[in-house]
Amino acid sequence: MDLRTLYKVSYGVYIVSSVKDNKFNGQIANTVFQVTSEPPTIAICINKQNLTHQYIESSKIFTISILSTDATMQFIGKFGFKSGRDIDKFKDTKYKIGKTSAPVVLDYTIGYLEAELTGSMDAGTHTIFFGRIVDAETINNQEPMTYAYYHEIKKGKSPKTAPTYIASNGRAKEIKSEVIKMSKYRCTVCDYIYDPAQGDPDSGVQPGTAFESLPDDWVCPVCGADKTQFVKEE
Ligand code: FE
Repeated sequence: MDLRTLYKVSYGVYIVSSVKDNKFNGQIANTVFQVTSEPPTIAICINKQNLTHQYIESSKIFTISILSTDATMQFIGKFGFKSGRDIDKFKDTKYKIGKTSAPVVLDYTIGYLEAELTGSMDAGTHTIFFGRIVDAETINNQEPMTYAYYHEIKKGKSPKTAPTYIASNGRAKEIKSEVIKMSKYRCTVCDYIYDPAQGDPDSGVQPGTAFESLPDDWVCPVCGADKTQFVKEE
């Protein structure tokens, strides 16, 4: 059995949000799928340990924000690698209160769905929640992010920027010959790869910056781990 075959299954990247006692929480989810069209019903799969799971069980409502390929790693990291038990994820997030009274994240959102819980199924570590869609809106026609895009490009496994982006800013050759000698580093917490050819533009780190030259207070753009949690890639 080759479980890597599972990587061939495609998914999107979403934020599932809910509410409990006037407190909001949301999390990244990739398992969101329409199960029937009449009535319009959606299913999501959520880890039982997550705060959002508690909130959905309690309020019986949830919203789904469909993210665009523009979503930054910091943004995905805030909703994907941090817990609402430690931080208020909505503090610096653009959102609105939906029809269901659950929050709808609007940052990097190309469309959203709101649902009322109609049932659930125990899936071991996770619960599959079913919801009847009570509101849906398309915000724009930007490209939805896929799980593959996030892994390959956002996490730096196959640089979108390196060859073309660097070449377009005029310092092409200079940077190219320098970055060849520089090593990539991998975050041991979330598997993000720091690629010197790409830098970390979301945090103001220019392409062509060696890992060793990053400021001491630089942190993993995805999960917030510090530099000591990184290991050199082969
Ligand atoms: Fe990380």
